[in-house]
Amino acid sequence: MTQKFTPAQLAEINRKLETSTTEEILNWTDQTFGNAAAQMSSFGLEDQTLFHIYWTVNPKARLMTLDTLRLPTETYSLFDQTKLRYGVDVEFFYPEMDSVAKMVKEKGNNFFYQGRANREFCCGVRKVEPLGRALATLDAWVTGLRRDQGMDRGSIDIVEWDAAHNNYKINPLANWTFEQVQEFVKENEIPYNELHDQGYPSLGCAPCTRAIKPGEDIRAGRWWWEDDPNAKECGIHIVAPLKA
Ligand code: SF4
Repeated sequence: MTQKFTPAQLAEINRKLETSTTEEILNWTDQTFGNAAAQMSSFGLEDQTLFHIYWTVNPKARLMTLDTLRLPTETYSLFDQTKLRYGVDVEFFYPEMDSVAKMVKEKGNNFFYQGRANREFCCGVRKVEPLGRALATLDAWVTGLRRDQGMDRGSIDIVEWDAAHNNYKINPLANWTFEQVQEFVKENEIPYNELHDQGYPSLGCAPCTRAIKPGEDIRAGRWWWEDDPNAKECGIHIVAPLKA
């Protein structure tokens, strides 16, 4: 899509939404983008919180996710629980099977443990490409990013022009803390991944996620074998070319 707002208009929208509730932000999203907006969910605690509110605002809210084909069994169970709870027809996006087959044939099944470039290659095939395909169908995508998750997330706006995907990215939970998210899930009895109770605050693919120890950063369990604490992203929320 072409940009709907000038930089000045976008700044004004953000100035207003910065003090709005999450419901108000999602109402604005609905009124502005309608059915051309969807939540792209990882089914983590933030995304479950966000979808609960989105569904309250609009019972026909769209929910998308990426199935990398390497997710934990508990995540697949949560897909089913969420569908039952909200009656939502989850839109699944999968990697291109030819690309997966070629990658596995040439590099092996668990080659991503052998250096960051390999890991990013796998994330490119299993996550970044399907994400691009999904987002190409939307004018706006809604995410559960929070500013206090660190890395580049500290400077996110509520509404951003996403030049990489040629659409808008909406971050209604930008101002929430992890404690607020946990409380909201509990109070509203929202279905969540049982691995969260086993020391996994952040979840991704099964072979690339471990439980964290007390005092560790909440994303320390993601790609734990890599040294760089600022590299705990898979390419979904960063603007970077897909590496070959
Ligand atoms: S998280 Fe691991 S298994 Fe999943 S796509 Fe990335 S490297 Fe591959």
